[in-house]
Amino acid sequence: MPEPAHHVDVVIVGAGVAGLSAAHRLTSAGVTTVVLEAAPYVGGRMSTEKVDGFRLDRIGQLLTTSYPELRHTPGLDALVLRPFAPGLLVHSAGRHHRVAEPSAGRSARGALTAARALASAPRVPRPPRTGPGSPPRPPFRTAPRPSRPLSRTAPLGGALDQARLGAALARIAATPVRRLLARPELPAAQGLSARGLPARTIEGFLRPLLSALLCDPDLTTSSRCADLALHAFARGRLCLPEGGADALPELLTAALPPGTVRTGVRVTSVSANRVTTAEHGELSCAGVLLATDARAAAELLPGLRVPPFHPVTVVHHAAPEPPLAEPALLLDADRRGPVAHTAVVSHVDPTRAPAGRTLVSSTVLGTPPDDLDRSVPRHLAELYGTPTDRWELLAVHHTREAVPAMPPPHDLRRPVRLLAGLYVCGDHRDTSTVQGALHSGRRAAHAALADLGIQPAATEESLPAAA
Ligand SMILES: Cc1cc2nc3c(=O)[nH]c(=O)nc-3n(C[C@H](O)[C@H](O)[C@H](O)COP(=O)(O)OP(=O)(O)OC[C@H]3O[C@@H](n4cnc5c(N)ncnc54)[C@H](O)[C@@H]3O)c2cc1C
Repeated sequence: MPEPAHHVDVVIVGAGVAGLSAAHRLTSAGVTTVVLEAAPYVGGRMSTEKVDGFRLDRIGQLLTTSYPELRHTPGLDALVLRPFAPGLLVHSAGRHHRVAEPSAGRSARGALTAARALASAPRVPRPPRTGPGSPPRPPFRTAPRPSRPLSRTAPLGGALDQARLGAALARIAATPVRRLLARPELPAAQGLSARGLPARTIEGFLRPLLSALLCDPDLTTSSRCADLALHAFARGRLCLPEGGADALPELLTAALPPGTVRTGVRVTSVSANRVTTAEHGELSCAGVLLATDARAAAELLPGLRVPPFHPVTVVHHAAPEPPLAEPALLLDADRRGPVAHTAVVSHVDPTRAPAGRTLVSSTVLGTPPDDLDRSVPRHLAELYGTPTDRWELLAVHHTREAVPAMPPPHDLRRPVRLLAGLYVCGDHRDTSTVQGALHSGRRAAHAALADLGIQPAATEESLPAAA
């Protein structure tokens, strides 16, 4: 710790990805910065537990390669993203259905039917060069994936349904974010019926996908946030950071000047020019940037809003053999059990399991059932179509306040400057995602730099209007 008399320009409270993103912007503009983190490790909710050679994330599995902040945040150039197989697998009525795959409907007959359907459909803008299932875009590296045989599956609906869905995804991918944000705002569940898609596509694909992306089983989230989530999905690929969720905060920390981040230091009070810590007394500074979760922020600065939260539980199993041949994300459309989505994570990222072992990670949205240890394996047996009684439970990570809820009206850019010298960031100021947390850190750092009369580093791109 800096000595109590030591003066730093800015103290950041919290070494989650929001605080670390802010620290990069400040240090690269020449501002002396210290990040104080209460936990013994960095990353906050992006933590990874190591058990018997398995790397088990606390957070759900859904980042997308199109998150702009994964490209814009300094320090993440070495991040390796492991993509899921293109499209999704959906389990419904005892079968696996392949959905939103780029090749869907491209057989000669399928193409003809699709062309006819599109000729009679409203005009669709040309899809961008990146579309659902296309390879992730540089500059970050994606690791090569071994090719694996595909499991036997049926498409969801007929060729016409698939063509309509493909067109809808291409349209949302091509729609500028500012136009998405100008649309009327409803709860996402209500917004679904206005999309002009058949009920089987909505119930069999859009509802389970959006529930998974938003960690919101009832889709009470703002339809604008749902549109942003679909936009990101349609422009990129779902992916995992190689090695675990903690790869992101660890890369960010390693790229900061040595000694910037101090773990095991709990901040007990803040003002615009001083922080008090439980362990090391007071630090004076020219500015304080609060980068904790929403509840801790409101404890330090009473009056800040505490949103409602969505609980999320992640269950990790070691299976004797892979229950699925491919690195696909498997969604449950029927809601006949607690699991919302699941994947053979060791297919997507082999570094997360010891050689020859299989890691299956599954996500339960909402309040988990009391008999989770029995109902989850039972549901997984149904979803994968294979017995799970020999699966070994590795860990259950339940986070009651996992992601801030975003009901309408949702302000996607809550103010980050409270007064000169006092700033707040975190996923509760933007969207409740890794993208939102990183972006809020950037906004807060820029506000602090403006008050200090300092330009952001020349290498820093200007903030997009919205992302
Ligand atoms: C189970 C789960 C599943 C998720 N799934 C996804 C997903 O699929 N996709 C996605 O994009 N996002 C997902 N998220 C959300 C994502 O993880 C968060 O939005 C993001 O990590 C928030 O980062 P943050 O920096 O804002 O906050 P945090 O990660 O909460 O960081 C805040 C930090 O502040 C520290 N702190 C708090 N109080 C103090 C104090 N008094 N003194 C010092 N330090 C303090 C904390 O220890 C913590 O390290 C999920 C989250 C969870 C929990």
